[in-house]
Amino acid sequence: MSDAIAPLRDFVVGMTQLVGRSSDERTLLAEGRALLKGLIADDAWLPAAFSAARKDRYAQYLLHADALERFSVVSFVWGPGHRTPVHNHTVWGLVGVLRGAERCDEFALDAAGQPQGTGRHHVMLPGDIEAVSPTVGDWHRVSSALPDEVSISIHVYGANIGAVRRERLDEQGRRIDFVSGYDSEMLPNLWDRSAAVRSQGPADGPAPTTPAAGAR
Ligand code: FE
Repeated sequence: MSDAIAPLRDFVVGMTQLVGRSSDERTLLAEGRALLKGLIADDAWLPAAFSAARKDRYAQYLLHADALERFSVVSFVWGPGHRTPVHNHTVWGLVGVLRGAERCDEFALDAAGQPQGTGRHHVMLPGDIEAVSPTVGDWHRVSSALPDEVSISIHVYGANIGAVRRERLDEQGRRIDFVSGYDSEMLPNLWDRSAAVRSQGPADGPAPTTPAAGAR
């Protein structure tokens, strides 16, 4: 029986329950962090189509969007040398490293509300998680920290992040609007659980066999 996608399905179910019972950011970040910790503890569930690096820039593959846009789950795939602009999010988010390593350059708002580099950075390794939001710190720049390997992080945000109007800094440090979109043209299929259901069999009978082609 193969149900490799089960950890992502379980995460989506857990996040759906979480956003259904709380809209408090501290609760969402704390409980979402625990759910994300479990998801990134396993490196076998992410389908190949959502873990492939682009040549030109980092990739953002949508893995799931809540039907009410209360949260979204995205895999970020970094090739060597790839990095984001300095950017914000405008909503809460959690970033967990699944594979490789990421460097995060830290920014903070000055007295005029402008993002300024603090001169500090940190490197995140598999299992590490950090939070972003206008409350806990919303501006940063993220880059691949490995010169010859792909790095992947799994992000969950409190909105359909690819459709959120937010801001980044241009080369002159000016704030400009952007909407990130997504690179994926399809979503992973969380819901074909047929193999697992078949293998369980009826409650009081032999396990059914796989139907012949065309019998669906
Ligand atoms: Fe970010």
